[in-house]
Amino acid sequence: MDRRHALGAAISGLAGLAATSAARADAAPAAPFTVPQAFIPIAGSTEVFPVRRIYCIGRNYAAHARAMGSDPTREPPFFFQKPSDAVQYVAPGSVVEHAYPTLTKNYHHELELVAALHQGGRDVPVERALDLVYGYAIGLDMTRRDLQRFMGEQKKPWEIGKSFDHAAPIGPIHRVAQVGHFKSGAIRLKVNGELRQDADLKEMIWSVAEQISELSRAFELKPGDIIYSGTPDGVGPVVPGDVMHGEIEGLPSMTVKVV
Ligand code: MN
Repeated sequence: MDRRHALGAAISGLAGLAATSAARADAAPAAPFTVPQAFIPIAGSTEVFPVRRIYCIGRNYAAHARAMGSDPTREPPFFFQKPSDAVQYVAPGSVVEHAYPTLTKNYHHELELVAALHQGGRDVPVERALDLVYGYAIGLDMTRRDLQRFMGEQKKPWEIGKSFDHAAPIGPIHRVAQVGHFKSGAIRLKVNGELRQDADLKEMIWSVAEQISELSRAFELKPGDIIYSGTPDGVGPVVPGDVMHGEIEGLPSMTVKVV
């Protein structure tokens, strides 16, 4: 191998680092600093789930879509991303402190089921889509609603409303072998004991399988991708001091205190 080829190989090795392969890391050239890999603990295991990308689906429950000003019967699914390092792990049975973010005066909770992928693919048919799922978690798609709306009204990207530090609190990943797939079941969020979101997963407009299939037409999905599957009606503001308690039937609950 001549020098140019050796460098090319070294650079592809570096790009592969995010795959958390120890063998590849050994072969990678030295970097001037380290970048931690985002991960989520796996329930009942000492292993962790490395996060590659965080996808989120918008307006996936009919009542929530109407509340956000769209017609759920006509709108195709749309997706956005949060940065991978936006995950904030929330261990079951603990109260995790979540910092109120900068720039917003209207900070909203969105409780969601999250699917975690261990296989990737392009143009995945709906019938095979669930084969890609490694497991599920409970998660919050935290949203700076005022910024999301302000940017949307100006037809600018509303990334700043969704994709900020710690914007993705999440519980442990539960493997499909342990919990199966989620096609129905209660999803509920209380703030300071008051019920705010109360729905059933079967009310999703696009199922998890359909979401994976649609996403895979726009992006090549890969192991480590996680998908926030949308939130039901009842989103609303939280302020410092508020305690959010989220429940999805079949998973441990999560408790997050805004500080
Ligand atoms: Mn959401």
